[in-house]
Amino acid sequence: MGTVIEVESLRKAYGRTVAVDGVSFEVRRGEVFGMVGPNGAGKTTTIECVEGLRRPDGGYIRVLGLDPQRDRIQLLQRIGVQLQESNLAPRLKVGEAMRLFASFYPRSVDGEILLERLGLAEKRDTYYDKLSGGQKQRLFIALALINDPEIVFLDELTTGLDPHARRDMWDLVREVRDQGKTVFLTTHYMEEAEELCDRVAIIDRGRVIALDTPEALIASLDSESRVAFTYEGPLDVEALRRLPEVSRLEAENGTVTVYGRGESLLPAVVNAVAAGGAVIRTLQNRRASLEDVFLALTGRPVEEAEDA
Ligand code: ADP
Repeated sequence: MGTVIEVESLRKAYGRTVAVDGVSFEVRRGEVFGMVGPNGAGKTTTIECVEGLRRPDGGYIRVLGLDPQRDRIQLLQRIGVQLQESNLAPRLKVGEAMRLFASFYPRSVDGEILLERLGLAEKRDTYYDKLSGGQKQRLFIALALINDPEIVFLDELTTGLDPHARRDMWDLVREVRDQGKTVFLTTHYMEEAEELCDRVAIIDRGRVIALDTPEALIASLDSESRVAFTYEGPLDVEALRRLPEVSRLEAENGTVTVYGRGESLLPAVVNAVAAGGAVIRTLQNRRASLEDVFLALTGRPVEEAEDA
């Protein structure tokens, strides 16, 4: 897999605020790459430098082999950039916006097909300011795809959306990736990064503090998973305790809580309970998440880290 974005020692300050403090990473062709971190961590500054919208103070950036500052015009033909809320005129209709954006590029795809695919075909004659939050975001994705870009940049795509609209967005992003495009996104939702990204850079106070697949980042914690269940029928607690996956076990008031490591804890426990002849009535499974990774690396929970 080729590298489509290279960033090396990127630096950007606003006056005395150092927003990006030596950030390095690479994005591979065809992946969903995410930068995740609390508000104020430097995500937007980074993505805007990569897009060529902001001039870095220092460092090296290549996107599709191009320098985003020097080769701006060429680069814009080949990337798709999600607009921010304020960039569209309120009285522009959805279909008009698509035609307007298509006219910016020598090469564009069929806007009608894009609107169909994004579930906006019936909104083609609707004014932009009459769209719901989720519909606006879908329109931004449609506009970002109008020039059939190789890389799509999405900055905080799901902020402000309800959980249902957010899941719709996740499906859309996966669809875009499945068409062979590379997606570079930022989010302050750890859960979103975990769910959506092939690889994640965790960014905090202008620095990348970890970079890998979400699975590898979580596995690196080597933290405990926990399975708690209630049951009916005969249960051999000692047999459960002896399972190699289990490190400790508590049983009280009819609830058994089992601690252990790795993905195999849950199936091991469920199988052992069934083999003994008991039936599980309720089950809770908690495994480590990217939030735990952030906490382990910084010593602070994500919510507390916001603009701290
Ligand atoms: P994120 O996208 O992770 O929330 P930003 O890149 O927007 O982070 O911001 C990083 C830091 O730079 C923050 O402390 C923010 O307040 C500051 N900052 C961002 N943009 C500007 C600007 N135009 N002028 C001054 N400070 C800014």
